[in-house]
Amino acid sequence: MDFEYTREEEAFRQEVRDFLDENLPPREQRGSDFMENWLARVREKRWVGFSWPREVGGGGGDIMSQVILKEEMAARRAPPLGTCMMGLAWVGPGIIQYGTDEQKARFIPDILDSKYHWCTGYSEPNVGSDLAALQCKALRDGDHYVINGTKIWTTLAPIASWISMLVRTDNFGSEEAKHEGITALLVKLDAPGIEIRPIENMAGQRAFAQIFFDNVRVPVANRLGDEGKGWAVTISSLANERSSIGEVTAMYSKLESLKELVRRTTRNGKPLSDKPSVRRELARFEAKIEAMRLNGLRYLTRQIRGQPLSSETSVNKLHRADLEVEMGDFAVSILGQAGNQTRRQEGAVDNGSWAADALGWPSVVIGGGTPNIQKNIIAERILKLPKD
Ligand SMILES: Cc1cc2nc3c(=O)[nH]c(=O)nc-3n(C[C@H](O)[C@H](O)[C@H](O)COP(=O)(O)OP(=O)(O)OC[C@H]3O[C@@H](n4cnc5c(N)ncnc54)[C@H](O)[C@@H]3O)c2cc1C
Repeated sequence: MDFEYTREEEAFRQEVRDFLDENLPPREQRGSDFMENWLARVREKRWVGFSWPREVGGGGGDIMSQVILKEEMAARRAPPLGTCMMGLAWVGPGIIQYGTDEQKARFIPDILDSKYHWCTGYSEPNVGSDLAALQCKALRDGDHYVINGTKIWTTLAPIASWISMLVRTDNFGSEEAKHEGITALLVKLDAPGIEIRPIENMAGQRAFAQIFFDNVRVPVANRLGDEGKGWAVTISSLANERSSIGEVTAMYSKLESLKELVRRTTRNGKPLSDKPSVRRELARFEAKIEAMRLNGLRYLTRQIRGQPLSSETSVNKLHRADLEVEMGDFAVSILGQAGNQTRRQEGAVDNGSWAADALGWPSVVIGGGTPNIQKNIIAERILKLPKD
């Protein structure tokens, strides 16, 4: 593996640094229009959808430059390059790979412009890890599908405009051929017959929902990929989801925040950063994150060779799950009583973000597949151990 950057790559790194010097003022100097301007500026640079093809509005950038962009953005703790989180991470890539020209023209510019949120409808009340057993059905009626059923734990559903979801269009009740007959649909969430009931998480946030579909009519033109072949669409989306969860730049950013926290938190008049046990813990986190980074370079090599991401993304997803819990517990423990105070509660540190963070682990631990499932994937598909 070659760890050196080319001259062009170093020049691009400098371009990003110059851009950040010019467009990223310190937090306390940012006005109310900062975010709007930031999103417009990075869009102008074609850094949103950086590696997406230019013909759909992306940047057409190579993968190595994208890594440099992410590294520099993370090092300066810049805001995200767009707010359509799921659109940018996996719905958009899915549409680019499987969508029709009409779907690309209709959805990709909106994702790049952060116009609205997407959510992902896979899980159902009795269907999670064994996703292929899904029951939400869609029957064909002329040039429409009619959906009946329910989806649950749908993150962002309370604020999203569209859902990318899986339905069963064939093989009802067949355990053997359950991967066949699944179809991916893109559905507008204000369609008649849809009811969204928000679910509150333990941090008090209404971040996800159960969605009920009662005879919801969706044009066949909104199908992503072929009828009955939604499993292939899902596998690539899940790999993208796991790879985005397993991304190391967010973890480095979190580690920097933790370092700052221990520098400004004192015990007996001394900063916690002076304590050997605290320093040891931070060093342990850093070593684990660095291991994730080096492992991530393997995915990068695959991508540079034009190979699709697959089961290997489970490794960093699993590591991040462990680290999120450990880092969250660590922050709460060093803050003592204040570590449990959430937003607007008296004594909350950094507006309760540490408590919210520590309580937010399920999204990275369970979302995108539980640790047991990641271990099964690693055992069976990477280590070639016998099937579960
Ligand atoms: C915060 C959060 C956000 C989420 N967001 C979304 C979303 O946006 N869209 C969406 O569709 N879903 C979402 N989910 C749902 C998530 O994908 C499922 O919760 C997850 O796949 C697990 O499914 P389950 O809850 O039905 O648990 P189950 O599948 O019933 O698992 C229960 C336990 O059994 C274990 N287990 C199950 N099968 C096996 C096996 N074969 N071998 C070993 N152990 C096994 C699991 O590891 C787990 O510990 C979200 C969940 C959370 C917590």
